[in-house]
Amino acid sequence: MVDKKWVYLFNELEQAIAYVNGEWDGVRALLGGKGANLAEMTRIGLPVPPFFTVTTEACNAYTAGGSKFPAGLWDQELKALAKVEEASGKKFGDAGNPLLVSCRSGAKFSMPGMMDTVLNIGLNDETVEGLAKLTDNDRFAYDSYRRLIQMFGSVVMGMSDEIFEDPLEAYKHQKGYKNDTDLTADDLKELVKVFKKAVRENQGSDFPQDPLQQLSLATEAVFRSWMGKRAIDYRRAEAIPDDLGTAVNIVTMVFGNMGWDSGTGVAFTRNPATGENKMYGDYLLNAQGEDVVAGIRNTDPIQNMGDHLPEAYKQFMEVTAVLEKHYRDMQDVEFTIERGRLWMLQTRNGKRTANAAVKVAVDMANEGLISREEALTRVTPKQVDALLHPQFNEENKKVAKKAGRFFATGVNASPGAAVGQIYFDADTAERMGKEEKQAVIMVRPFTKPDDVHGMLAAKGILTSEGGATSHAAVVARQFGVPCIVGASQIRIDLERRQMKVGDSVVKEGEWISVDGTTGEVYLGKLELTVPNIEEQTDLMTLLTWADETARLQVWANADYPRDARRARSYGAKGIGLCRTEHMFFEPERLPTVQKMVLAETSEERTAELNILLPYQRSDFAGLFEAMDGLPVIIRLIDPPLHEFMPDEEKLFEEVVTMRVKGETKGLDEKEKLLASIKALHESNPMLGLRGVRLSIYMPEIVEMQVRAIFEAAADCASKGIVVKPEVMIPLTGTVNELKWIQPRLERIAKAVMDEKGVSFEYKFGTMIEIPRAAITASEIAGLAQFFSFGTNDLTQMTFGYSRDDAERNFLIKYVEEGILVKNPFQTIDREGVGRLMSMAVNEGRNVRPELEVGICGEHGGDPDSIEFCHLIGNNYVSCSPFRVPVARLAAAQAAIKHK
Ligand code: ADP
Ligand code: MG
Ligand code: MG
Repeated sequence: MVDKKWVYLFNELEQAIAYVNGEWDGVRALLGGKGANLAEMTRIGLPVPPFFTVTTEACNAYTAGGSKFPAGLWDQELKALAKVEEASGKKFGDAGNPLLVSCRSGAKFSMPGMMDTVLNIGLNDETVEGLAKLTDNDRFAYDSYRRLIQMFGSVVMGMSDEIFEDPLEAYKHQKGYKNDTDLTADDLKELVKVFKKAVRENQGSDFPQDPLQQLSLATEAVFRSWMGKRAIDYRRAEAIPDDLGTAVNIVTMVFGNMGWDSGTGVAFTRNPATGENKMYGDYLLNAQGEDVVAGIRNTDPIQNMGDHLPEAYKQFMEVTAVLEKHYRDMQDVEFTIERGRLWMLQTRNGKRTANAAVKVAVDMANEGLISREEALTRVTPKQVDALLHPQFNEENKKVAKKAGRFFATGVNASPGAAVGQIYFDADTAERMGKEEKQAVIMVRPFTKPDDVHGMLAAKGILTSEGGATSHAAVVARQFGVPCIVGASQIRIDLERRQMKVGDSVVKEGEWISVDGTTGEVYLGKLELTVPNIEEQTDLMTLLTWADETARLQVWANADYPRDARRARSYGAKGIGLCRTEHMFFEPERLPTVQKMVLAETSEERTAELNILLPYQRSDFAGLFEAMDGLPVIIRLIDPPLHEFMPDEEKLFEEVVTMRVKGETKGLDEKEKLLASIKALHESNPMLGLRGVRLSIYMPEIVEMQVRAIFEAAADCASKGIVVKPEVMIPLTGTVNELKWIQPRLERIAKAVMDEKGVSFEYKFGTMIEIPRAAITASEIAGLAQFFSFGTNDLTQMTFGYSRDDAERNFLIKYVEEGILVKNPFQTIDREGVGRLMSMAVNEGRNVRPELEVGICGEHGGDPDSIEFCHLIGNNYVSCSPFRVPVARLAAAQAAIKHK
């Protein structure tokens, strides 16, 4: 039997490609990102030292086989080594002309600093002499040797760094040296002895002198590092699967520490923080790779390299330009210059900030390097989200950390940064926020629905319990409030009004800074920068491209003109939901609303509604003005009436107190009010008298609302504003409800237009939020000119969950146990709720091909749900104004993915 191929030489990329059936992704999986890119660089003729790669399959076979090399592997390594010897003109273990190699980890996805690499393998007491003679440089040879013993000791033999660092420091101190470069050849010879002794004492065996033994032990060490704790933790955090394994790259050593005509460096082809198209990096003369990253010596900016090594610098700039063109993305490279000669040691797509991601994508499209469509896929919705929230700058965070102001970390539940004074309950948080105008951070062990008023008044939210789908997290995301949940190191003491981590105590009213993007909490105030979308010209450009690519439009949910204006500046193409009930809650209106609710006759009710009419008219006029030329969907009254009334329990207590104290003034009225509220009581109000049912039971309210909408629209139209009102009837369950109410309302619409002598486009439509409505969509579409999926209620009713109860009680457990893959209130449940939606779209359009379909539930801002809305043929998604830019990108990405 022929052994499996475990090893690929630098010039065997084609074989690797064939083995994985041509997919580059497969090559990366087999050879690791580092190995695949080294081979690719070799193939396109860039200077890479000869090497071979041991596959990830070998790593997995090693682990599966109980930490043993699979059959054939060592043999293949030896054969490949012979080829590398040939290519480099040196020999492994030959004192006359020694080949040295590095043994480098490299998985499919880059895991910076998580796994191990050993340099200078092949040095021993004899070859070090050979190297010294060959290079005529004792110092260099012994420096390389002591580095090998040190790295081998720590990586392969698992010795702690101090075992080497301590004697090295002591030695330098004794000699009065500051830097490693001060060490002379004799010093280094002495240090090699010291290090070898340290290995013997610590391990009970000598540092292996046999180069082949060094190589096989180092290969194993790299395999093992895949299952090291650091690497496992990193994979958990980045959702990288454990079964990928790491490849091992055995690479001919090139030396940046051969003198002042040598050096080493790392660089990004563009600035990874800002995206600026300018090489960004550091280098060191007379140094080996690790020195640059380790920060032991002060590095120089890459631009200065031209002064010292002009030839190599010029070549480096050419090579990196080739690399960017070849990979069509910003590259992060590692290189070494040996006696003036450039060698590339690594390249990969560079990690970058959200800012840089946008700039690089837009620039590269403008440079013609990538298409606009590709640019749209280079930025994630999460990155766009991060750009719209206030932020801390990295420098300030570093300074705060140094000053000991880092407090705790938790789950980064809702992005953005916030600075404020902490309060431990919703009422205080609200009072301090609203009345005292303080910046407030609300801190709770966890939150419940009756904490929402405090959360809304807060600039940030911090909880010590709960996960990414906890109530606090969901609410925070919905309202764009930065939020950290589950910061479990924090002990909150609600009695003493303080929180603690270790000895560090923060009392109520004191300042903290929370970074919802990273999950970090700092003591005191960090400076905030508030992004303005209009100033982010690259983002604006990218989003314009998104609109050109997307089939779905993005509208916004906005109740007030100021929200509508924000939505518009964020690029919304309409208002998908204006909730009118907020307008009833304004303090000067509420008493009238209550009288209206309690009216005993239709005349009395109409009288009160006539008082409300002008208020509503001006509310709507403001919206039409803000959305000049764009559609505005206004939903008629939706909640049950008791929501507008005083709290029953509280009123009851007042009445009882008055009776006990024998107070009579006003008691009569209170008792009457109490009786009326009791009469409104329903055992399950969310499934009771609300939505269209309320409108049929008490049509006067919606008649007033429709009159207000059309009067406002007519007034605006006569002022030259282009109005496109769409009246939305909530909670329809049967077409007969629409048959009853809609003609009455349409008559009012026509009457108003006649009275005012203007006409304009308008629509009447309904929400689809009761499963029966979705199932009977073809009937409903006979009357409704548009559908808007109310996916919050539709999800509740399809699952039979009440959202508040579900999120408070069992939903987290369901997600943790895998009973639900995701929280269906965040991401549309495609199999259930989604099927109802897609059925409704298809059957509705069969009856009315021009049927306008949208979604106004919270899902309208969720990228996965947006993709689904694209697939089922929605015309638009409507989401909170803050989410509009994210949704625009997501809509474009959905269109690209499903071309
Ligand atoms: P990481 O994945 O942690 O970046 P690498 O395998 O890239 O680890 O190795 C770290 C550094 O060691 C490299 O940046 C490079 O400077 C140096 N290095 C690795 N192999 C060689 C080699 N063959 N010759 C010279 N330097 C090397
Ligand atoms: Mg590297
Ligand atoms: Mg609803």
